[in-house]
Amino acid sequence: MSAGRSRKLQVATFASAPAALTARAASARCYTRAVPTDPNKPVYYRKQVPLFRLIDKMKLWPSRRGLLHGIKEFEVLGPTRARLTTHCGKTMIVRDSKTSRSARWLRNKLFFEACPECRIPEWKLQKYAATKFKRGYGSFLREEDRKE
Ligand SMILES: [Zn+2]
Repeated sequence: MSAGRSRKLQVATFASAPAALTARAASARCYTRAVPTDPNKPVYYRKQVPLFRLIDKMKLWPSRRGLLHGIKEFEVLGPTRARLTTHCGKTMIVRDSKTSRSARWLRNKLFFEACPECRIPEWKLQKYAATKFKRGYGSFLREEDRKE
């Protein structure tokens, strides 16, 4: 009889835990390696964060047609030139400038849809949505800012 009671107690404790919390804990357990941090936690970057650093960090690229691609490879060729390869197999040379369209689109999250072929994982899109760009606040993503 006492065993039955304790089992009932356990069930009650589990059920009373907030559903969101349980789900988050479960997803954290499944994706420990892929998602080291909570994708919904806001990350702050400076508005003037260098484009190549940003791309290298986020591994996302907004195309001119408004598709958000996932980046498979990214190679900096020079101070204003880099080559990127998307997961859907496109390779292109991108340029950085103060008025770069891609930098602005990335900051403003201007895209119509995520590229279906690139299959950007949901957590990455969530993380991107939670990323904030502010003037005078946040990381510049410079070499010396890196913690690891
Ligand atoms: Zn793509």
